[in-house]
Amino acid sequence: MDRALAQSWLLAFEEAALAEKDHLTTLDSAIGDGDHGVNLHRGLSRVRRWLESGEIPDAPGEVLRESGALIRAHVGGASGVLYGGAFTAMGTALPVTGADAAQFGDALAAGLDAIVRLGAAAPGDKTMVDAFTPALTAFRTVRAGNLGAAVSAAASAAAAGAWSTIPMQARKGRASYLGHRSVGHMDPGAASTTLLFRSLARAAAP
Ligand code: ADP
Ligand code: MG
Ligand code: MG
Repeated sequence: MDRALAQSWLLAFEEAALAEKDHLTTLDSAIGDGDHGVNLHRGLSRVRRWLESGEIPDAPGEVLRESGALIRAHVGGASGVLYGGAFTAMGTALPVTGADAAQFGDALAAGLDAIVRLGAAAPGDKTMVDAFTPALTAFRTVRAGNLGAAVSAAASAAAAGAWSTIPMQARKGRASYLGHRSVGHMDPGAASTTLLFRSLARAAAP
């Protein structure tokens, strides 16, 4: 993980959030307040604007940390706090000069820890944690190989994790207000976490 990869990851995430904006909003309309796609893309477009301003720090950790601050400030809602906190934590965990696959795995773990610390969701609560947790596990299983293989395994695992939220009853966030009526829908934050990891895989592809 170097500055170029950090930058292309965030730009790919913004593109994916734009392409999937309506889908995320549809998911959030079913079990939330219908703003997840708009929220996420609003913040990520601020990140893109900053990344394209030409004043990007050299250290990949600083790129992720500053993006976390922009996400927290401009995404809004629960996901802004959680994704913002995750990017800030990942950025803080990265060594200044860049990271090998194992160190990047530690940074991803710090990101998930931040989400859990801020949101207190456990696996099975029907949140982004249900996509992030299996993605991290998959990443760590493969990382001895190479970063490209690890991130593509993480992306598949995140997608499977998002599908696994459909039969769950939400215990955190707005969807939990619906009780058993939250069953039968994919969690929007788990869907956007799939985009996060798919974007990483796309950015890391040769
Ligand atoms: P809001 O619910 O404030 O409108 P968003 O719609 O942007 O925020 O994001 C909703 C998503 O945030 C949910 O689908 C879920 O994945 C995630 N989320 C909400 N609360 C929590 C929590 N306590 N822990 C983890 N994730 C959460
Ligand atoms: Mg919402
Ligand atoms: Mg909202």
